[in-house]
Amino acid sequence: MSSSRQVPPKKRKPTATYLKRRKINEESLKSSGTAFIGQVIKFWNSSLWEGVDRIEDYVEKLLHSIFFLGHIHEARLLPNAFFESQAVKDKLETTFQMAFHNYMSPPCQTPFSILLTLAVRLCGHGDEYKIQEHLLSFLGALKLPPKIKGESNYTNYYTLEATVIAVCYNETPGALRPVKYYGASLSCRGERAKRIMINQSCLNVWHDYVSYAVLSFRHDEQGNGISFPGTVKCRAFYRNHQTNCYEDRRPCNNCGDLFSLSNPETDRNDFPYGNCAETECLSNLIFNDEDVRSNMILGIYYKRKT
Ligand SMILES: [Zn+2]
Repeated sequence: MSSSRQVPPKKRKPTATYLKRRKINEESLKSSGTAFIGQVIKFWNSSLWEGVDRIEDYVEKLLHSIFFLGHIHEARLLPNAFFESQAVKDKLETTFQMAFHNYMSPPCQTPFSILLTLAVRLCGHGDEYKIQEHLLSFLGALKLPPKIKGESNYTNYYTLEATVIAVCYNETPGALRPVKYYGASLSCRGERAKRIMINQSCLNVWHDYVSYAVLSFRHDEQGNGISFPGTVKCRAFYRNHQTNCYEDRRPCNNCGDLFSLSNPETDRNDFPYGNCAETECLSNLIFNDEDVRSNMILGIYYKRKT
């Protein structure tokens, strides 16, 4: 055995500001996660989600996704942290054992994305406004705290809400009502959580074409974007907190790069490639639409599978 051992670097003492911020972040995920789960259980027990086939699968996925975000949070939160009482937790643990046992493995969607999938299932893909209303009624019932000292502080509050949702469809001539596909931006906070969810999505969730584009930009500023046929339409919305309505929003610069979308914002944002709602909805479209798949223009290095 070697006698020379590397001396581990001395741990720096965390500053008071860091500890304070960490405490606020911990509390915000704990309280918004508890509110989110409480609301899921209320909707599940009410007539609102009645009639959805295998609704328990959605509830289980929602619990698992929230527990996982607690697990990877800088101040690690165990599933127990998200319940108002032990009795509620015990009851749910009996019904949703998988969520409680597998919470350390990454889920395929963030909680809000699962909620959006459920809303689409419930309202039908065609009625965007009904879907938005369903989401708004869920969010309104969460009763999250009002803004704390201005916009930037609110941004730090971990609400589990996706900032943006997006819809896309292939408007083929002759087809009366194209199938609409939806997506949500990543409803997790912090660079680490986003990176984990994007990696998981690239490996196990998104269509290869989308994963390829996202990863190519991660490693090279001149990445390889993909282009959709002109018949594909994509729109994004964000919730205006003042009016509590979803409003149109232009695609960001990252989406402009990834998907060659027209008219993107020119300002750079700080979000990693793959964070946006467009990523999820366009991936769903590619999976489901053979016409789109075969008419896409892929980056120069991508080899189509034959
Ligand atoms: Zn974007």
